[in-house]
Amino acid sequence: MSSAKQPTNSFAVIGAGMSGVLAGIKLKEAGHPFTIFEKADRVGGTWRENTYPGIACDVPSHIYSYSFELNPDWSEFTSPGAEVQEYFEGVSKRYGIDEHIRFNEAVIRCTWMDGEWEIETEKGHIERVRWVIAATGILHHPKYPDIDGLDTFEGPMFHTARWDHDIDIAGKRIGLIGTGSSGVQITAAVAPEVENLTVFQRTAQWIVPNDRVVYTEEEKEAFRTDADLLQNLHNEMSTAFNDGFATSVIDGNSELLDGIQERCLEALDTVQDEELKEKLRPTYKAACKRLVVSHNFYDAVQRDNVDIITESIDRIEPNGVVTEGELHELDVLVLATGFHVDAFMRPMNITGRNGIDLDEVWKDWPSAYLSIAVPEFPNFFMLNGPNSPVGNFSLIQTAEMQFDYVLQIVNHVNQGDLDIAVVSHEAFERFDAERYEAAKGTVWATGCNSWYLDNNGVPFAWPFPFSRFRSEMESPRLSDYEKV
Ligand code: NAP
Repeated sequence: MSSAKQPTNSFAVIGAGMSGVLAGIKLKEAGHPFTIFEKADRVGGTWRENTYPGIACDVPSHIYSYSFELNPDWSEFTSPGAEVQEYFEGVSKRYGIDEHIRFNEAVIRCTWMDGEWEIETEKGHIERVRWVIAATGILHHPKYPDIDGLDTFEGPMFHTARWDHDIDIAGKRIGLIGTGSSGVQITAAVAPEVENLTVFQRTAQWIVPNDRVVYTEEEKEAFRTDADLLQNLHNEMSTAFNDGFATSVIDGNSELLDGIQERCLEALDTVQDEELKEKLRPTYKAACKRLVVSHNFYDAVQRDNVDIITESIDRIEPNGVVTEGELHELDVLVLATGFHVDAFMRPMNITGRNGIDLDEVWKDWPSAYLSIAVPEFPNFFMLNGPNSPVGNFSLIQTAEMQFDYVLQIVNHVNQGDLDIAVVSHEAFERFDAERYEAAKGTVWATGCNSWYLDNNGVPFAWPFPFSRFRSEMESPRLSDYEKV
């Protein structure tokens, strides 16, 4: 092995959402120079972009927090989106990360040359760094439905991640296409204030009921004054989640999921009208699609001013949506139709060793060794990248573990154990083949269509237990990296 070349030890982090801010905090702590490039003017990622009525984080707030920055002030068991956004902005400021962020500066190109990455931003700035961490998130490219006449609609029309707050929806006839987590939260929030809400449901969803729990001032004060109480709560919730739900989803025959399905059925039974109840009854296993959590969706859809339309959409016309020949007249149309989940940091132009283009490598579907690295792309890592546990563990805990892994690899290069960090083709292929086989046994592969599936209908999320993810992240296998 040649002696390690050390141009600079600088890092470019792409994206200032939850993972990018985390990377900044950890890089600062480790004493590495870094710049975070952020396309928008604020931190927060998905929580900055999704501001639709009713948005809330359906993961319990005390585990949807950085492990090193627990928050005694969460208002609810599952908190509103604006509060989550405020949390990330607050953490970024407190840790002095904002001054490392170049806002309104999207990265458009990363090219590996001379043992470094050349980064180009949309402002035309070009710079060299030794390491790149892509923390661009997964659910950030809105997916617009391919429906005839979509552009002919004359009223306001927007995607849930682009909510137009200039439009007053009160007293209007609103159409909503899609009943995933976003559509369900919007339905419950807007139903009481609009004249009429027409929900176009293509596939019924399993809705897990959750009781709304608002923390009292006394409880928050106890969390503020007793750090152990807060830490224990976080630890208990994490363990329960990782040993329970996270373990059950990788087993298509899990009894725990049967129990969740029972709870969903009990909630569905609160729907009085038999015809409506049957429309809302899913025909696949609970958790095959991402579970939707709501305490008030079934109340909302039983209101007189809400209609659930299950007939398929023929086309969109200037004044509404046509299903099987019937026109539903609308003032505003909301598209709760999800995201392109295979983009990750693209459309960025990323060229690795020997001129290899990431678009070419990922032309069928994106995949990454242990969710973090791709052969031929040296010193380039992803947080919450392809094959990450998106449907199972807390995304924050995942990003923290992934970052610890990345830092260990960086240290190995800096110590001269590796010249550069480039995962071998053999290691990637071995991991990918095993992942692909394991994915077929998960609940996501039990016969439904969802954003968890790749082009071949195979789930792309991490299909192994939490314990395996943790041990892979804790102890990187250097033999899986090329000795160049
Ligand atoms: P989604 O789960 O992908 O749901 C998209 C919805 O649009 C589905 O109901 C889908 O129907 C429907 N749809 C798509 N194209 C359509 C078409 N051409 N015609 C009719 N219907 C169409 O998207 P999402 O609700 O935005 O949620 C995405 C993910 O974001 C969630 O799964 C979750 O991970 C995350 N999220 C989390 C929270 C939270 O509280 N933590 C809140 C919101 C979102 P089909 O089911 O038939 O495909």
